[in-house]
Amino acid sequence: MSDNAAEPEPPDEPPESEPMDQAFTYNGGRVDPGESANIRYGISETYLGDPVRIPVTVINGEHPGPTVFLSAAAHGDELNGIEVVREVAHDWDHSVLHGTLVCLPVMNVPGFLAQERYLPIYDRDLNRSFPGREGSTSARRMAHRIFTNFIEPCDVGIDFHTSTRGRTNMLHVRANTERSDVARLAKAFSSNVIIAGEGPSGTLRREATEAGIPTITVEMGEAHRFQRRLIDRALTGVASVLAEFGLHRESSVHWPGWRTVIDDDDEKTWLRADAGGIVDMKRGRGALVEEGEVICTITNPFKEEDDIVTVEAPFTGLIVGVLENPVVYPGNPLCHLVGLAPDTLTALERERTPKSSRAELRGTN
Ligand SMILES: [Zn+2]
Repeated sequence: MSDNAAEPEPPDEPPESEPMDQAFTYNGGRVDPGESANIRYGISETYLGDPVRIPVTVINGEHPGPTVFLSAAAHGDELNGIEVVREVAHDWDHSVLHGTLVCLPVMNVPGFLAQERYLPIYDRDLNRSFPGREGSTSARRMAHRIFTNFIEPCDVGIDFHTSTRGRTNMLHVRANTERSDVARLAKAFSSNVIIAGEGPSGTLRREATEAGIPTITVEMGEAHRFQRRLIDRALTGVASVLAEFGLHRESSVHWPGWRTVIDDDDEKTWLRADAGGIVDMKRGRGALVEEGEVICTITNPFKEEDDIVTVEAPFTGLIVGVLENPVVYPGNPLCHLVGLAPDTLTALERERTPKSSRAELRGTN
C-alpha cells in the first residue's frame, strides 16, 4: 500500500491482461522471470563482525511453474550434495525452465570452513535448528534467515546429506511417505531405497514438510569427498524430479529398476559390534549379503586366533550403510542391513547379473 494518501486506492485485482507476478522475492531482492542471480546472503556475523554469507543461486524460468529448492551442507563436511547443487545450478541448460530453482549449495558456512559437521559455535546442529527463530540461539537465527527467505517461498525441496564421518551409505531417500505429496517426490527421485519416516524435529525436511513444502532428504556416500558415481546418480534423481513436477518438460521421469521402502520404525537393523577391536570389513556399501555370510571380522592387535570375532548376516539383505573407519568399541555400529521382499530381491539380483551371463543363462546372445 502507498504511503501517499492523495493517491487513489489501487484495484484489489490486477487487470486480467497482466500476467501473474512470477518474480522470486526475498528480503532485500527479487529475481524476475527469465533472470537468474548469484546471491551472497548474510545469515550471521563472525567474531570480527564480518558477515557470514551463504551462496544462493536463484534461476527463475521464463515460463511459470513450481519453485523447487535444492540444498546441501547443512552439515559442513558433507560435500557430495554441494557438487550436485552446483552442477544443476551452473552446468545445466535451464533455457526452457517452467518455474524457479532455488539452489543452496552450502547452508552451514561456518561448518564448511572448518570442515566440520556442526556449527563450530558450541557444536550446534544446524539441521536440528529449523525452522529457526529470531532472537533465539545463533544456530536458530541462521536457520530462520535461511528458512524464511529461501525455503518458505518454495513448493518442493530436496536436502542433500552424506553419512556421518567414518561411515558411508548407498544413495537413498528419507521421506515421510505417509503424506502423498512427499511420497510423490520421493518416488520421483528414483532411488532404489526409500526409508520412510517423518525425521527428527528441527531437520529441514521435517520442518519444511510440516510448513507445507514437501521435502525429502537424500543420503549419499561419505563426508569429506566428491564421489562421482553417487553424484551422477543424484543428478539423475534431480532431473527426474524436475520432469515429474513439470519444470523440465523435455525430460522424463526415471524408474530405478527396483525399489524398496523401509519403515523407519522397523529400522533396528544396525548390526553392532559385540567386541572392541579392529574391523576387517568383507562387504561394502550396496552389497547384497546372504544369511550366514561373513560381513566382517573383529580382531585384537595381535590377530590372535582365539580372539577373532566373526560377524555374520542374520538374514539376507542389502548393506545400506557401513563403517569406513575400521575401529570399534562394543556397541558401535558396523553396518546397516536391510531385509528385502522376495520380488525386490529377484529384481536386484537380475540387475546385478551382467547382461552377457544373463544371455548365456537363456542360451542366447
Ligand atoms: Zn547430514
